[in-house]
Amino acid sequence: MPEGPEIRRAAESVARAVSGRVALQVHFGLPRLARHGAELSGRKVDAVEPRGKALLLHFAGGTSVYTHNQLYGTWKVVKPGRTPATGRELRLAIHSRDAWALLYSASDIEVLPRAQLVRHPYLAKLGIELLAPGTTLAQVRAQLDAPRFQRRSLAALLLDQGFLAGLGNYLRSEALYVARLSPEMKLGALTPTQKDALARASLEVTRQSYRTRGITNDLERAARLKRAGVVFGRYRHHVFDREGEPCWACGTRIARGAVAGRNLFTCAGCQRPGGASFSSAGPP
Ligand SMILES: [Zn+2]
Repeated sequence: MPEGPEIRRAAESVARAVSGRVALQVHFGLPRLARHGAELSGRKVDAVEPRGKALLLHFAGGTSVYTHNQLYGTWKVVKPGRTPATGRELRLAIHSRDAWALLYSASDIEVLPRAQLVRHPYLAKLGIELLAPGTTLAQVRAQLDAPRFQRRSLAALLLDQGFLAGLGNYLRSEALYVARLSPEMKLGALTPTQKDALARASLEVTRQSYRTRGITNDLERAARLKRAGVVFGRYRHHVFDREGEPCWACGTRIARGAVAGRNLFTCAGCQRPGGASFSSAGPP
């Protein structure tokens, strides 16, 4: 499932194709939306905006298209006429003069006035957007002190887009590892120093993944492994998808668990409940 970094890169690709350009033709594959094709064809695309794991297309005249890829949706940007050979269903096509932006398989698509987006159920509940350019570490850290989150486990919280938006399943394992925290800990049980570490790790791991196209591992280590011939899928992460392999830092075998049906990877040597933290003072 794409997470914030992947959605933001898709949004940039779609923006290069259609943002600031006239959408010569707009086509919706879902019958319930078909009538909007004629309505939006010929209008300029004012902006393409990623929000959490959703992508918004704002058309001139005040109409927006909301899309959420869920598990299967995928964007393709192609030269005009170069429709890819795929068995997937085309759900939205936006043709500009120089490029086509095509959304396949997604079914969570809505057309609505831009002014109503603030009341959209998904957008209205989004938490701090880790990849929004204006988001600061202080904002993320403040979110970690919000009373409504304190009784929940870190494993559950880090998948909740109402807490930190843009973080998803692989980033959850990686951020917890970097912060040296066990997934079952409740947010309210963390020391201020541990919350500092979690805020920093959540923001930095997510942003690094966006910058590096998916590398959450230490960048020097990743470069060293790459030079040694290790493939991308094996050097990109600290712990995610590394069950049974040794922790890069301490050698402990990486364990796999599942929370809410989603895989979660941990190193028992580096992540102990109430154990080591970044601070030299450490937790009590
Ligand atoms: Zn370790």
